[in-house]
Formats: sequence, structure tokens, C-alpha cells
Amino acid sequence: MPIDPTQPYDDANIFARILRGELPSNKVYEDDWAFAFHDIAPQAPVHILVIPRGAYVSWDDFSAQASDPEIAGLARAIGHVAREAGLVETGYRVLYNVGTHGGQEVPHLHAHIFGGRPLGRMIG
Ligand code: 5GP
Repeated sequence: MPIDPTQPYDDANIFARILRGELPSNKVYEDDWAFAFHDIAPQAPVHILVIPRGAYVSWDDFSAQASDPEIAGLARAIGHVAREAGLVETGYRVLYNVGTHGGQEVPHLHAHIFGGRPLGRMIG
């Protein structure tokens, strides 16, 4: 069920609980700004989610309200994770779903990293 990106942040969402260690995840990376783990239902041979530690619902509030170090931290973490996953030579895709039309289902900002096969040009 797509989320409403204008809703207040819900501290009980699945990714908030993963960040707090209350739910398990298959972690691939973490630092002061970001946490990365394998998607539970991968849509490509490599499908990793990278989330900020801060409480942001979507790209909308993150891009408007996050500090420059938070934004830089997430961007650098995404690049680091993609490099560590060996995706640079073949290429990869970074995707943020936002709200209803974007098909966002979890109300904590997450970047999808897809790779490991040609991904085509489709957007949905
Ligand atoms: P969205 O549609 O919100 O952009 O993507 C949410 C993603 O989170 C989906 O790809 C879905 O498979 C993944 N996901 C949902 N619940 C869990 C979970 O509990 N653990 C992990 N690792 N991924 C999840």
C-alpha cells in the first residue's frame, strides 16, 4: 500500500525498527549517516537498500530538511555500497520511490541500488 509522503514520520515503521536493531536485516554497510541492507524481495541479482539514520519519510522531507552532512553522508554511502558490491564496471541504478505515484511502501527514506543484470529503460 503506497504511503502518503506528507504524513508525519512514524517511528514504528519497519526500517526504523531495523535501524534500532529491533528487527533483523542482512546488513552490508553502516556508518554515522547511513545503513545498508539487502532487500527482502530482490528485483535484481543485486538489490540493496540504503537508508539515512535520520527520521525522514521520503526524498521530499529529506531534500528539504536534512543537513548538508546528512545528504552528503547518504550520497557517499550509496556510492560506497555500489563499489563494494562490484557494480561500477557493469553499471547500476539508484532509485527513490516517493509517495503514491512513486509506489513507495515503507515510510522511511530509502535508496534502492539495483544491479547485476541489464536493467532496461522501463520506469514502471
Ligand atoms: P518502496 O516500494 O517503499 O520503495 O520499497 C520498499 C522495499 O522494501 C521493497 O523493495 C521491499 O521488498 C523491501 N522491504 C519491505 N519490508 C522489508 C523488510 O522487512 N526487510 C527488508 N530487508 N526489505 C524489506
